[in-house]
Amino acid sequence: MRVYITRKIPESGINKLKEKGYEVDVNPEDKVLPKEELIVALKAKSYDAVLCLLTDKIDDDVFLAAPQAKIFANYAVGFDNIDLVVAQKHNKLISNTPGVLTETVAEHTFALMLAIAHRVAEADKFTKAGQYKGWAPMLLLGTDLSHKTLGIIGLGRIGSRVAYHASRGFDMKVVYYDVKRNEEFEKEFNAVYKEVDDLLKEADFVSLHVPLLESTKHLINAERLKMMKKGAYLVNTSRGPVIDENALVGALKEGLIKGAALDVFEQEPKLAEGLAELDNVILTPHIASATQETRSKMSEIAADNIIAAMEGSEPPNLVLLI
Ligand code: NAD
Repeated sequence: MRVYITRKIPESGINKLKEKGYEVDVNPEDKVLPKEELIVALKAKSYDAVLCLLTDKIDDDVFLAAPQAKIFANYAVGFDNIDLVVAQKHNKLISNTPGVLTETVAEHTFALMLAIAHRVAEADKFTKAGQYKGWAPMLLLGTDLSHKTLGIIGLGRIGSRVAYHASRGFDMKVVYYDVKRNEEFEKEFNAVYKEVDDLLKEADFVSLHVPLLESTKHLINAERLKMMKKGAYLVNTSRGPVIDENALVGALKEGLIKGAALDVFEQEPKLAEGLAELDNVILTPHIASATQETRSKMSEIAADNIIAAMEGSEPPNLVLLI
């Protein structure tokens, strides 16, 4: 069996594939392969499986370049980079890496939420620049998380874990919106289901955890930013296009909301004009799942999905077209 991996990932998954006796080729350059180069790489040999990343756009042309490949195993839980309709047409199996990154992404969400509310990045810059001249009662005043209301949009694996930390760790009131209501969760966390607009009007912190779909693109737009409280913060560790980023820059400049903390961007790696110049934002470069432990587990899960497909059984994390 031959497997192509579109970029260097942690060894643990690669070793699993090699232990099976598979021939594994990894893109030797540590960069995203532009589509034309990916096509050339896939056509070089007849690959039975491809391990791809969220930065690879997998469409008709890419599937045509790997006619023998049974599976495209995505190294991410999100799979908005893969055209599922076309995958089905080509009879390709698609898998993802759910679950193993849930706790890590929830932790990063809290790191962002705490950092923006307690002005950690501003304070770090201030202190390192030698501006700290002594304790002052009004210096860099922030906002508490404790006892505030957290609005979660998308109460799946990650959203639920964020709710757990908020409720158990910070005594926050949790309100949520999802296409599916979860009454068991409501009882356990004393959480309240709200429509998006009502949630935005009530929450002090809004955290986004939906997949990127037609229905979630620009879910947070100019009109909805106006609905948020003036003192509210917006946190996004889902996918960039869920927020209209230009509208967000406008809202932050006008003071419609107090701040934003973002791990993902609409046109990654580009940022909307003006975003990086704002003090009331914290930006991280799509690293919410980037811990050594989690990235290794993701590598192993992607390998397990490939091995299952190669052995003729159903990959454990098969993504189905709904
Ligand atoms: P999940 O499938 O467990 O949860 C997604 C939830 O969103 C589900 O409960 C679903 O019902 C809900 N949903 C779907 N469409 C909706 C809509 N239109 N409105 C409201 N809710 C809707 O997924 P997860 O494992 O929790 O991951 C969530 C997303 O986080 C992923 O799809 C991925 O894009 C993103 N993610 C980002 C990073 C990162 O590095 N920043 C890492 C992991 C995941």
